[in-house]
Amino acid sequence: MTQQRRTGLKELQKLDGSINDARDRIGTFDPLFEEIEEPALMLESELGTSRTRLKEMKLESRRLETSSDERRERVKKLEERIGSVRNLREESAVTTELEMVKRALENDETEALTLIDQVRKGEERVTELEEAYKEASDIVEPKKEALLAEREEVRSELSRLEKERESFTAAMDPGELRIYEAIRGGGRRRAIAELTADGACANCFSVVPLQLQNVIRHGDRLIRCEACGVILAAAEPVEESTEGPADDEVITNEESEVDANEELSSEEVTDDIEEEASGVDGGDEEG
Ligand SMILES: [Zn+2]
Repeated sequence: MTQQRRTGLKELQKLDGSINDARDRIGTFDPLFEEIEEPALMLESELGTSRTRLKEMKLESRRLETSSDERRERVKKLEERIGSVRNLREESAVTTELEMVKRALENDETEALTLIDQVRKGEERVTELEEAYKEASDIVEPKKEALLAEREEVRSELSRLEKERESFTAAMDPGELRIYEAIRGGGRRRAIAELTADGACANCFSVVPLQLQNVIRHGDRLIRCEACGVILAAAEPVEESTEGPADDEVITNEESEVDANEELSSEEVTDDIEEEASGVDGGDEEG
């Protein structure tokens, strides 16, 4: 019975499905980490920009100070010279320069005042951002730890499944296992599929030739779907203890067998079936 329904392969496929799910779930953690860290990272970047700007403004402020000091010094010297000019022409020249330097000094001072205001605002902004960044970082850590713990849980679940798979495959028929692995080796997740009630491959829904359906139902040879290559297995028997919808399935199965019998009576299929049937009968008995 076990051999007939290829239960081992089906179990293995279920196990591999769980392994794949666990791996997929581990992969979904990366964007979650990014999401958690994003607000703090954005604040960090904004803080960096604000600090740089503040530094530039302070440099500019210092440059203005030096320039103002030089101009004040120049004004002092020019004012001294006014007292010792020898003629009107010289006086006019000194006065003109004095006016120019004073105007430039006024501009420097106005600019310096604006800059002082900007530096003050910049400093406030940096403090604000530092606080916000600290707050965001404090939130990140516990969230990150929770996520890490969650991911660790999935990881240990994965390694448990992988160990289970190892001992499971050790007890399997090596030939079947090799075919199974070869099919999945191409990146496919499904290596074995049941026959549908209509005698089609449950993976690609191509109809399986009737004589092959019989071989599959007897289970004595491993048959692969001609269309998609998966290993085909007979469907699990429907248990009567299951609820509501299962009853429908039982009926469907019976109907399909009736269908199959009807088809058997058609000439060209009957020939094939009889040929195959004689071969199958030989290996039909179990044990
Ligand atoms: Zn198929």
